[in-house]
Amino acid sequence: MKVLVCDKLADSAVQAMRDAGLEVVVKTGMTPEELVATVPGFHVAIVRSATKFRKPAIDAATDMKLIVRGGVGLDNIDVEYAEAKGIKVMNTPAASSASVAELALGFMFALARSIPQATASMKAGKWEKKQFEGIELAGKTLGVIGAGRIGAELIKRANALGMNCIFYRRTPTEMPGARQVPLEELLRTSDFISMHVPLTPETANMLSREQFAMMKDGVYIVHCGRGGTVDEEALLEALNSGKVAGAALDVFAEEPTNNMALVSHPNVICSPHIGAQTKEAQDRVGDEVASIVIEFAKAHAG
Ligand code: NAD
Repeated sequence: MKVLVCDKLADSAVQAMRDAGLEVVVKTGMTPEELVATVPGFHVAIVRSATKFRKPAIDAATDMKLIVRGGVGLDNIDVEYAEAKGIKVMNTPAASSASVAELALGFMFALARSIPQATASMKAGKWEKKQFEGIELAGKTLGVIGAGRIGAELIKRANALGMNCIFYRRTPTEMPGARQVPLEELLRTSDFISMHVPLTPETANMLSREQFAMMKDGVYIVHCGRGGTVDEEALLEALNSGKVAGAALDVFAEEPTNNMALVSHPNVICSPHIGAQTKEAQDRVGDEVASIVIEFAKAHAG
């Protein structure tokens, strides 16, 4: 079986597939045209988020049986079209949950104590001790919107800090250490709101003007979910009015973002979609991808 690795994958994963007898070609950074020209003859393609598997590449992939996305979101693959052509599409949804939850928690500490702003102030030669009075996380209410894998990991950690955790998701679910509430109650009572829903037609701009208006004055927003689920214009207005005291953003409606009005706001701290960028998550993604491909090859041998 011939495997095409289109985006960066841990060396150990490539080696594991080779050790299992698979022919693995690593060719990263291809243009869409190069991808179309390369895919014929390959049975498996491995992508992260950079390579886009759209109709032209899928049409050209006449021997393809499986596309594996190392990571969670499948928005870079036309999944329905691929599956209609008999190509299975799989991902590694759990590999980065702990890393994303830790980033969200790190953002909460950074917002509560203005750590990035205090650092910038000191690097500018100042000593603004009085200006940086913060708040404790203990005793505050954390509202998690979309409590799936990542939300559950965040709740576990927030519980250990003495936070009161509530969550909203569509289906009734038991979550140790947290109470499920309607969205409106979460918006009205949370001190910190952390977004973890995928981007779907239902969740697009799920936090917009109407939702910000319901929130407590001085709420903090943490967004390590998917760009497009928070209305960035409405968020900027809420920051400017003081309704939102601070926002921490890892994901943006467009990436890389050009929304400098938002990024440069003094009460915004941010990172360039690094939720899953830890050594451990990358290694776990690699291990999971390799085992998916090896199992698939075994099942389709001969
Ligand atoms: P998950 O599928 O385990 O959880 C998503 C949750 O959202 C589920 O509980 C689901 O019921 C809920 N949900 C979906 N639609 C909803 C709606 N309309 N209303 C209310 N709840 C809804 O996913 P996960 O692994 O926890 O990942 C969550 C998000 O985090 C994904 O969108 C993913 O793209 C993003 N993510 C970001 C990074 C990063 O680097 N920042 C890394 C990994 C994942």
